[in-house]
Amino acid sequence: MHNKTVAELSKGLAQKEFSSEELTSHFLNRIETLDGRYNSFITVCKEQALADARAADKKIQSGTATAWTGIPFAHKDIFCTQGVTTTCGSKMLANFRPPYDATVALKFKEQGAVCLGKTNMDEFAMGSSNESSYFGKVVNPWGDNLVPGGSSGGSASAVAARLTPAATATDTGGSIRQPAALCGITGLKPTYGRVSRLGMIAFASSLDQGGPMARTAEDAAMMLNVMAGFDPKDSTSLDNPVPDYTATLNQDIKGLRIGLPKEFFTSDLDSKMAGAIRAAIAELEKRGAILKEISLPHSALSVPAYYVIAPAECSANLSRFDGVRYGHRCDDPKDLMDLYMRSRSEGFGEEVKRRILIGTYALSAGYYDAYYRKAQQVRRLIKNDFTEAFADVDVIASPTSPSPAFGFGSKGDDPVKMYLEDIFTISTNLAGLPGMSIPAGEIDGLPIGLQLIGNYFDEGRLLNVAHQFQTVTDWHTKAPKGIS
Ligand code: GLN
Repeated sequence: MHNKTVAELSKGLAQKEFSSEELTSHFLNRIETLDGRYNSFITVCKEQALADARAADKKIQSGTATAWTGIPFAHKDIFCTQGVTTTCGSKMLANFRPPYDATVALKFKEQGAVCLGKTNMDEFAMGSSNESSYFGKVVNPWGDNLVPGGSSGGSASAVAARLTPAATATDTGGSIRQPAALCGITGLKPTYGRVSRLGMIAFASSLDQGGPMARTAEDAAMMLNVMAGFDPKDSTSLDNPVPDYTATLNQDIKGLRIGLPKEFFTSDLDSKMAGAIRAAIAELEKRGAILKEISLPHSALSVPAYYVIAPAECSANLSRFDGVRYGHRCDDPKDLMDLYMRSRSEGFGEEVKRRILIGTYALSAGYYDAYYRKAQQVRRLIKNDFTEAFADVDVIASPTSPSPAFGFGSKGDDPVKMYLEDIFTISTNLAGLPGMSIPAGEIDGLPIGLQLIGNYFDEGRLLNVAHQFQTVTDWHTKAPKGIS
């Protein structure tokens, strides 16, 4: 059952081949027996999931079910879930039980989907390897000593290990696409404003966006159907109509113009990665796509600009964790300053503190113009590069990450080495564009991802191209060794 896609499970439930309770028990058993090895879940909602599954079975019996009724899935532990611990991978929120649901969580509830639990992540979504979680590192199912990528490493690892058919995730600089690539699954970061951020714990508010992780583009489309849409309670959410993303998956891609940024395909790119990505793009060419070299001249500035903007926004967002209203509070504070200082020193991990320090510095009087304003100006140039490129092409293709999954500790000594993991993904967030990663090949037995970037609100086209790729290739069906 765990090898079926969401689309197949949905049909199976409708045709009464199995019940949601059976399906949910099956995944809960897998989590119980296998997740000791991966550590992909922080919280498992066993009793609630079984109760929700029984309620879903009733809905199915009564003929009021939708495509998601009774389907098990998981939430990244950054989405607030009413009454269910929501930690954001941090000691700061280790005991936090939100009094309300994130809009995304509410939308899945409305469909009668069954939440199996909350997945592990880098603390406050800062990281590319899932080594910074307070709840321990997540293991990539493709190798016991390999990172799953980050920050949505728990969601990626759980989907790859078939512990859940799908999971929600978030992407501020690459956190959906890079772990999807490293774990051999499909992930989509929607256009900024497409998915509500209400109840999604903020890291960098102008960059954060929630999106789906699943094994196939079709399943990602089904998830986006639930997640996307205007939310009057989120002032950055956009009131654009939501199409049925599954309705356009089978469109012909003949004549599709694919741009290959020359700045991404340089001699610095690992030759095996270049070969695998070119082979994947050749599959699309065989289906009638036309390749064009394009230029994104400011892309080299994306990582430096991001590492001013994201820490600046995080320093503002994380100032709310002060030990007063909720979150970690130190024992016996002497006075207010002691309460602030010790609660924050004890509650936050090293990477989070590093970012708060950088961000506070970049925003301080005297440095604001030199760093923050300059970074925002660079951001506009990066966005303009994409606008020009999309005058000539329909999608842009590149590797998702510079290499396949790397070993634990291998980038720990130098934060900048880790920051360069997102060299291909970050510019998409700075521009607010949608981007996707699909399994597209292997290097030394490890999966790699093809990144597809689209124009604003062109998620449907990305999913269509990805689905067409998946109808002629089988990379997305490959399971890690030992998972059957
Ligand atoms: N790896 C990047 C960072 O550490 C991106 C994280 C993300 O997208 N949440 O900030």
